[in-house]
Amino acid sequence: MHTLRASKYGLSIKQLPSSIVEVIDALTKAGYNAYIVGGGVRDLMLGLQPKDFDAVTNATPAQVKEVFGRRCRIIGRRFELAHVYVGRDLIEVATFRAPPKKAVTSAQGMILRDNNWGTIEQDFVRRDFSINAMYYQPRKGEILDFCDAIQDVSKKTLRLLGDPALRFEEDPVRMLRTLRFSAKLNFHIAPEILDVFTPEMTQLLRDVSPHRLYDESQKLFTMGHLQRVLPLLIDFGIWKQLFAEVRPKVTTFIELAAKNTDQRIQIGKTINPAFFYAVLLWEKFLERCDEYLKKGIVPAEARAQASLDVLKRQSTRTVIPRFAETFIREVWEMQTRLLNPKPQQIQALAGHARFRAGFDFLLLREKAGDLSTEGMGQWWDAYQTLTNDEKEKAIAQYNRGRAKKRRTATVSDEAETQTEMAPLVVEREGRRSRSPSRQRTESASSTRRVESNPSHAATSDIDHNHPILKRKRVQRDLTQVVFGPTQ
Ligand code: ATP
Ligand code: MG
Repeated sequence: MHTLRASKYGLSIKQLPSSIVEVIDALTKAGYNAYIVGGGVRDLMLGLQPKDFDAVTNATPAQVKEVFGRRCRIIGRRFELAHVYVGRDLIEVATFRAPPKKAVTSAQGMILRDNNWGTIEQDFVRRDFSINAMYYQPRKGEILDFCDAIQDVSKKTLRLLGDPALRFEEDPVRMLRTLRFSAKLNFHIAPEILDVFTPEMTQLLRDVSPHRLYDESQKLFTMGHLQRVLPLLIDFGIWKQLFAEVRPKVTTFIELAAKNTDQRIQIGKTINPAFFYAVLLWEKFLERCDEYLKKGIVPAEARAQASLDVLKRQSTRTVIPRFAETFIREVWEMQTRLLNPKPQQIQALAGHARFRAGFDFLLLREKAGDLSTEGMGQWWDAYQTLTNDEKEKAIAQYNRGRAKKRRTATVSDEAETQTEMAPLVVEREGRRSRSPSRQRTESASSTRRVESNPSHAATSDIDHNHPILKRKRVQRDLTQVVFGPTQ
């Protein structure tokens, strides 16, 4: 074990938020050992801005709770942790872990429960990569390095602690973490990891809960190096495991969306990971729409059903939370609205809560060479920069162009028959928990119920007194609609 002088590597207590220092100090004062560990130390060493700081201690979660009282909450079952609230910050405090007992690993060697407390020496070998296993005591200005992590930092090498095959078997998510850190830090992956990182090994990800995989996918999307990690996901066969239904190809559209996401993060803008899911699944959604249209289903219903199908299939890999699913469906639905809006709806559309995301999506499609947007991405782009007078003129001009197009085209577009702006997405309740047959009939009737009573519709962003909602709604006969199987 080496004790490194923190200042020699550019680390100082002054760089740290007061919340983490307060937690370390309080635990130390209560007689425990406490360190900052993981990504916080690693990123400071590399001159990056850490996302957060995690603490580790020899106090058990119950003892941590004794120290912080009501500011502490114990969470997790498989991996018990203490959450300590300091002002607006939340600090995760883990307890040193010893090797898991045999009884709590699965037949494949996956660790199912991991609450066997231990010493710092036992704890470091349990961590994934050497660079994530440095323990920093900011008051003492010391970093404890048990595994020559500092060498890997200087050589920019991602090295798993212990036998790589065993470590992947214990927790297959480490494969995702390998690619994430390699892309984020621009580190090369140690050869002994590459040796075992086979397509067979990636199959183990099937045993990981789709909830956890969604969390990991979010981390991949939001780390700021999405563009760099996407080809790695394909090359290592992880893509197939995470997005089984999506063609493993970084299309121009996906590439542009990834670039855009990374740029937004770089300038400190927030991003919604669901947006990238909307991009990834778009092609599949269009395919599914086509299938329904070919069966003679009306376009609006085809879109609604296709979006439900695609998201349902994706949820067998990564469970997208309900609010994120709604967001994705709204972004997709916005594409139709923005492509061929009724002139009198243009203003309302531009003020819609989902306009920005829908417009960004449309523009990305257009920039990626999707001709089916008919230049409407640029039209909306320009529209937003106009004064009110100019907007009226632009709408009038748009209307004339549209009338002309209508005269030449014989097929009447579906948007024409809509008399008012319907909610973008109609929620169907309880579709996950119920049996498919019951769900099918119930979702049909609940859709009808929602449509006939718009105040119950998913219009959280439209006030229920809004005139749009008071107008009479066209009833669609959903008994004629085929709710197809999704498998
Ligand atoms: P970042 O927060 O920048 O994504 P991180 O390294 O801090 O990266 P966390 O998921 O916050 O990652 O985990 C904190 C630390 O816990 C890691 O640095 C590592 O030491 C340990 N750890 C996390 N996940 C695992 C895992 N699956 N296997 C082994 N150790 C892990
Ligand atoms: Mg972290």
